[in-house]
Amino acid sequence: MWANVTPVVQNGVRVSVCGQRWIDVGTLLATARSRIVVCGLLVLMLAHCGVATKGPRRPLPLPSSKPTNDLLSGPAVGTDIPPDVLGTLHVQTGNGTWRTIHWEKTSRSIGKPNDGSLVDGRAIPLEGPGWIHVGGNPFGTDETVLLVAWGVAEVGLRYPGTVPVVIGDLSAEFGGPLSPHNSHQSGRDADIGYFAAGNRPLRRFQGMNAESLDAEKTWYLLERLLLTGQIQYLFIHYDLQKLLYDAAHDSGWHPQDLTSIFQYPNGKSSRTGIVRHSPGHADHFHVRFRCPAGDDECVP
Ligand SMILES: [Zn+2]
Repeated sequence: MWANVTPVVQNGVRVSVCGQRWIDVGTLLATARSRIVVCGLLVLMLAHCGVATKGPRRPLPLPSSKPTNDLLSGPAVGTDIPPDVLGTLHVQTGNGTWRTIHWEKTSRSIGKPNDGSLVDGRAIPLEGPGWIHVGGNPFGTDETVLLVAWGVAEVGLRYPGTVPVVIGDLSAEFGGPLSPHNSHQSGRDADIGYFAAGNRPLRRFQGMNAESLDAEKTWYLLERLLLTGQIQYLFIHYDLQKLLYDAAHDSGWHPQDLTSIFQYPNGKSSRTGIVRHSPGHADHFHVRFRCPAGDDECVP
């Protein structure tokens, strides 16, 4: 999707991003189910151009902190969208600026993650700015797809030249049971690979340890997602939690603030924190989003 040379353009639409990259909007629109959310994402990314990609090292607010100012007004495609179909999400860029994403919300998460379904789910494209998708189950709620795509794109802005991260299963098109997972049924779950040390490109999930994990970059993605306030759980192997905890501390987080985020160092059986140990999550992490606002049939 990214190209620095003459782009192949479908639908006669092309967009320059940050003065050097081109997005093939035709391909994006062909694979995304809503032009509005794509345009919203593009405008959001355009808004980042010129913003310093190296944020100051300082303590950041807890995820529960209220967004402040400098909101990016939407919708991106005009003002004729009825207010009752607008979704709203608040995100914080790496330099501390809060922005608001508006889009035409159509998806609905039904039931529980392990006993649920998905209505009008949205597919994450096979590739995008900062990711490749593998696994064949790309469907999620609007919120899941939008926030995952936004988050990994943010990593590329903070760390230019970062190779794409591997995104695995979200949900099936209409949700429901999805082997081999217990959850991933209601569009609120996504499996995402870790960033590898040395910017090593990966085509599939790969087990990580202290030597192979790029903890700083992975924490940066987790931090972006956590600060949206939309994360219910992050399932991460306990051994990797320490590495990410230390990366968070190095980036300016205070230990007392990290107690609400990490299960570590209270032991893998502790029922504290958003980040929880789960076997099988040494080669990818699992993010579960909260029930989206307005999805009345969603069960936490
Ligand atoms: Zn998973």
